Amino acid sequence: MSQKQPLLEVRNLQKHFNLGNGKILKAVDNVSFAIQQGETFGLVGESGCGKSTTGRTIINLYDTTGGEVIFNGENVHKMKGKKQQEFRRNMQMVFQDPYASLNPRMTVGNIIAEGIDIHGLNSGKERKERVLQLLRDVGLNEEHASRFPHEFSGGQRQRIGIARALAIEPKFIIADEPISALDVSVQAQVVNLFKKLQKERGLTYLFIAHDLAMVKHISDRIGVMYLGKLVEVTTSEELYAKPLHPYTQSLLSAIPIPDPEIERTRERIILEGEIPSPLNPPSGCPFRTRCPHAMPECAAAMPEFKEVEPGHYVACHLY
Ligand code: SF4
Repeated sequence: MSQKQPLLEVRNLQKHFNLGNGKILKAVDNVSFAIQQGETFGLVGESGCGKSTTGRTIINLYDTTGGEVIFNGENVHKMKGKKQQEFRRNMQMVFQDPYASLNPRMTVGNIIAEGIDIHGLNSGKERKERVLQLLRDVGLNEEHASRFPHEFSGGQRQRIGIARALAIEPKFIIADEPISALDVSVQAQVVNLFKKLQKERGLTYLFIAHDLAMVKHISDRIGVMYLGKLVEVTTSEELYAKPLHPYTQSLLSAIPIPDPEIERTRERIILEGEIPSPLNPPSGCPFRTRCPHAMPECAAAMPEFKEVEPGHYVACHLY
């Protein structure tokens, strides 16, 4: 990782939910990572692992239980007044289900312009021109501005969601499973759109997904989460070439390889058992109930999240 100050720094982030009756859900537990300006950081893990809660806590939809989120040198959860307003402009979110996040009674033009209106950026002719430009930027047509969300396909609706996020010229976008609800044929187009916009606008992304195949082509670095904890972080290349954590290895072995010869002969790591409840996680290493390499010490102590090679972090007693 380069030594300059990251745009986003997440330090020992915790988000616990008190469910009553003494039940505490540790959705995010001591998660730390940093994202440099212009970088794409992929955050991956099965459903319920805490990746979306991490994203929502970073953008301040949730308070923290512990730890800090530092954006551009400022603590996100302590910002007030002008600083907070600036943060709301600089960080935007693109959601998984574009239909649920678009108001069905508003025209696409007004949906895209919502942020422009809230922040008082443009009005009249300039506002209209900005909306039309955004539609063109995300690969839609100008005449789409007067239509309603139900008139669009899933991929087009996600393009509208992206245009809405871009309307106030943010520096950082959290994309929470932005392609999971789309047809496989459309997923690559939307990923390519994210890449194109990043190049044109110097954007920084936190790209959340439930499988490693989805983040491969967009991420510079990837973090893998399991049961509220980060278990491995490294560059995208290194993660695919040399995954260290047994959980990452199993996720990668589930991705089909397009070469039938290799696909037929390679070994799959099938995980035994269900993901344990985060309400009652196993002692020691959270992955030990499904790990093919579990040893007695894995039940006794939580492995430390440490740098085992330059820039490659892993939480596992094997290293
Ligand atoms: Fe498996 Fe133990 Fe490593 Fe956890 S610490 S991933 S149980 S080997």
